[in-house]
Amino acid sequence: MQQKITKVTVTLPIVFFYDTIKGGDYRSREANVHRLAEVSTNIIDQCVAQGVPFARDYGGLLDNRSFGGVLVSRTFYAKGQTGQQLLLGAYSAMNRQIGRGKIKMYNRHEMMDIVVVDGKARGIITRNLVDGKIERHSAHAVVIASGGYGNVFFLSTNAMGSNVSAAWKIHKKGAYFANPCFTQIHPTCIPVSGDHQSKLTLMSESLRNDGRIWVPKKLEDVKAIREGKLKPTEIAEENRDYYLERRYPAFGNLVPRDVASRAAKERCDAGYGVNKTGEAVYLDFASAIMRYGKEQAHVKGLDENNEALVKKLGQEIVKAKYGNLFQMYEKIVDQNPYETPMMIYPAVHYTMGGVWVDYNLMTTIPGCYAIGEANFSDHGANRLGASALMQGLADGYFVLPYTIGDYLADDIRTGPISTDLPEFEKAEAAVKAQIEGFISNKGSHSVDYYHRKLGKIMWNKCGMSRNEKGLKEAIKEIQELREDFYKNVNVPGNVNEFNEQLAKAGRVADFLELGELFAKDALERTESCGGHFREESQTPEGEALRDDENFTFVSAWEYKGAPSKAVLHKEELKYEEIEVKTRSYK
Ligand SMILES: Cc1cc2nc3c(=O)[nH]c(=O)nc-3n(C[C@H](O)[C@H](O)[C@H](O)COP(=O)(O)OP(=O)(O)OC[C@H]3O[C@@H](n4cnc5c(N)ncnc54)[C@H](O)[C@@H]3O)c2cc1C
Repeated sequence: MQQKITKVTVTLPIVFFYDTIKGGDYRSREANVHRLAEVSTNIIDQCVAQGVPFARDYGGLLDNRSFGGVLVSRTFYAKGQTGQQLLLGAYSAMNRQIGRGKIKMYNRHEMMDIVVVDGKARGIITRNLVDGKIERHSAHAVVIASGGYGNVFFLSTNAMGSNVSAAWKIHKKGAYFANPCFTQIHPTCIPVSGDHQSKLTLMSESLRNDGRIWVPKKLEDVKAIREGKLKPTEIAEENRDYYLERRYPAFGNLVPRDVASRAAKERCDAGYGVNKTGEAVYLDFASAIMRYGKEQAHVKGLDENNEALVKKLGQEIVKAKYGNLFQMYEKIVDQNPYETPMMIYPAVHYTMGGVWVDYNLMTTIPGCYAIGEANFSDHGANRLGASALMQGLADGYFVLPYTIGDYLADDIRTGPISTDLPEFEKAEAAVKAQIEGFISNKGSHSVDYYHRKLGKIMWNKCGMSRNEKGLKEAIKEIQELREDFYKNVNVPGNVNEFNEQLAKAGRVADFLELGELFAKDALERTESCGGHFREESQTPEGEALRDDENFTFVSAWEYKGAPSKAVLHKEELKYEEIEVKTRSYK
């Protein structure tokens, strides 16, 4: 598809393909990304047909804008709510099928384990979260679409209920887990405010289109700001360090997420963080407001030198573009971002790692598929903005419907699978034993106590930068924490009732295992790539240094009884259409 974009004419899917491989730091499977790019335009059409209100230009055509890691405006968007609108589109399309009787919906049911019969996925065991009932469901194939595992860090931008359990349960029954250490830390989040928090808030990446990121140049200004003696708006232009524009002149504030996050950490570690905890940088819209205001004054034939008028006109444009995000920020932080710069800091947002799948999205358990964020497939070591839902929708609408049929064609003649098979009985018994074990444990610490502790280990030792010493410590600390969890966790209430703590206990148990594999994977990969930054592997300028000779592969871990015993399989990555280069955004 040819589309005219500002001054350049580009073939969109090819640019998408190239940006995604480069953004993923040459650690994604080339063929998968090519397929994703090929179907990307179909996805936009599909979503439009579902009623997603994508932004349109004056002539009524779909509009585009820029995003981190890309040099041309090629991202379709719906104000600052693209993700939410896509979700609503997909959800209403699904509801239509539920209404037509094509889909049977099991709300508030948690998948507790997979049932494997004669080496093939044949069903799942679920728990009804409302009344605690354990149920058996048989099938000819199982699809896992349970999202990412960012909540292993306790604090993340993910929904509170996001967890790794479904993916981890299939891992324990034979599905390889790929690149667990590849996590995305998003640069544009509201900074942590204290220990009381259980969730972090993402400010859309679209804000980096117009917001400029900076910290003061002088440490005395930082000190005065922290003490409340100086306002950011009082710092003169020449005393501000627009560090992304300084370090990466070509991409500036639109460098990919991993690069922007590390750069913020670098400034804050050097002492330039602007909030009380020293972990925040500014995202400033003052320049955009004045630029848009001048444009508007010019278009309307008004006085371009009237600063107050220009500011007002500019604020109106910024409000039209990002008003909902500004309002959200003001509600949480109690500061008006039209008048003073926002404060942001990186937070865990997305996991590129996940269940290993082949080109058909099948895991290493025949008949068990994984789609969306739950699989590892397309993003390599770093995901570019806007492409998570693109991949999820590609998997669900344009890949799986074709590949799963191929599997079922050979298998459908088996007739209905009985849930009375011994494999179902065994899986159900194991689920019940774990649940009852938690309730009867009567320990002294809450589930959240362990989750929070795990999160701290992960953030401090497996977070934005990692080193051998820290990772070895993390593995040991997680093992000890896990042991303590099983001895001392306290889960109140009963088995056969709505019991949120009980549901959480099972999820945290899985996070405590995944966390160890995560650290083990990060330890094994001694190179830096994308979101995985090993301090031992960096250029003199502090940029990530890849080691293509030794690490151009996907790490696919096989479960062997415990994370410490997991066996590494390497899927070599071959690039035929793209030249492997050092990633540079300078
Ligand atoms: C704040 C935020 C903003 C984002 N904005 C964008 C954006 O603008 N564009 C973009 O492309 N991406 C965005 N992303 C990323 C994107 O939303 C996710 O990657 C995407 O939603 C993943 O889709 P999924 O269907 O694979 O998983 P999810 O959307 O996480 O859905 C998984 C579902 O499985 C359920 N589940 C989990 N475990 C079990 C179990 N054991 N049994 C039964 N059910 C289970 C969960 O409750 C959930 O409903 C954003 C993410 C966040 C957190």
